[in-house]
Amino acid sequence: MKIICIGRNYAEHITELGNERPDSPVIFMKPDTALLRNNDPFYYPDFSKDIHYECELLVKIKKEGKSIEAKFAAKYYDEIGLGIDFTARDIQSQAKEKGLPWERAKAFNESAPVSNFIPKDGFDLTDTSFQLELNGETVQEGNTSLMLWPIDELVAYVSNYFTLKTGDIIFTGTPKGVGPIKIGDRLRGMLSGQEMFNFEIK
Ligand code: ZN
Repeated sequence: MKIICIGRNYAEHITELGNERPDSPVIFMKPDTALLRNNDPFYYPDFSKDIHYECELLVKIKKEGKSIEAKFAAKYYDEIGLGIDFTARDIQSQAKEKGLPWERAKAFNESAPVSNFIPKDGFDLTDTSFQLELNGETVQEGNTSLMLWPIDELVAYVSNYFTLKTGDIIFTGTPKGVGPIKIGDRLRGMLSGQEMFNFEIK
């Protein structure tokens, strides 16, 4: 399986990092070795001094597809989840300056904690809220209504370049409020008021 991530999909997050608003979605990938599940702790890696959380809504692909039209995209996923796109911001900033790829900043081991997936039925995915709590305090509040590209358009866009396969996961971008973690922190993610993950930084 592969993990496809969308960058710069929320206007206010683009502003907080001083990035330009893109004309098309920014895409990058993480390998399957980036997955972290079952609320397992995240071990702070020694190659970075500035790991940031980015809480994101996840979509799990249920059947193979390529060049999918947005109006049919909803047939290609039926489960959603919540995850963190851990980012070594110090390494990413150096890479951005030099115009280099982001893999070391984004795709390292266990950089993609994911919740269990739940059926999308019952959610209005054009108006679904999620929150991230850091040590009990809300630090990110997102709503899919604020996405620059809604989920179906993302699925369609991504499938023009990469054939989507069963089990692939799409990280749909982070809202504003990203920030650093430190050892001893606890991250708790909520989707429409329901706890999705709750794990510790070690
Ligand atoms: Zn992200």
